Amino acid sequence: MSTEKLYKTTIIIWSDTDPASLELSDLAREAESGDSYCAHQETVLVSDPTADAHPPDLEFFSSAFDEDEDDDEGEEPPSDFPVRVLRAGDEAEDRTTCNTCGRSWDDAVVTGYTPAPSARCPFETYHKDE
Ligand SMILES: [Zn+2]
Repeated sequence: MSTEKLYKTTIIIWSDTDPASLELSDLAREAESGDSYCAHQETVLVSDPTADAHPPDLEFFSSAFDEDEDDDEGEEPPSDFPVRVLRAGDEAEDRTTCNTCGRSWDDAVVTGYTPAPSARCPFETYHKDE
């Protein structure tokens, strides 16, 4: 996996009562309201987060990106999906295009999904929710 740069924020908050049971948001609010004292806040751009003493779970960031894409684009079929999405100019014996998602496939290739029944699309699972 290639490493992406991430912003790392270090915050030091001093409290005269035990904040262990507080949510991060409550502790931050205490620091802002003056019940606790924020002595240090620093954000740095880290080029290799995995080498940090407190590395993040990079899965967290990659899955967050995936969810964003789903909202905008709908899901893409996985690369091992048995039906191949044809690009413009690809050779195909029976090129068929879905009116809903605009994907094209070769309906002459026999898979578990094709030939597709009339007016059906082998990529229906990956259509956007409407
Ligand atoms: Zn479709």
